[in-house]
Amino acid sequence: MGLTRTIKSVTRTATLTPPGRRTPVMDIPPGTILKGKLWCPYCAEPTVFKKDPELDVKKCKGCGISDRDFHVKTANRLWPSIFDKKIKK
Ligand SMILES: [Zn+2]
Repeated sequence: MGLTRTIKSVTRTATLTPPGRRTPVMDIPPGTILKGKLWCPYCAEPTVFKKDPELDVKKCKGCGISDRDFHVKTANRLWPSIFDKKIKK
């Protein structure tokens, strides 16, 4: 039968999004100049991440998400080489 079609499954990441937040935009549009900014997947634009001295993280000026957020890290490729170093407890 020639009826085989590939049905793309709905984005799974949506289920991981905390309530109240928009679906993260993970793809930085080509030609986007970050220039000291980070791509905020929740604001869907390059934003300044301001350091929070108390928590020792950087936070998006727009929505307050920290640079420790999974989607922020992934979109900006902030992950350290986790395959080289294994975190010891
Ligand atoms: Zn933001």
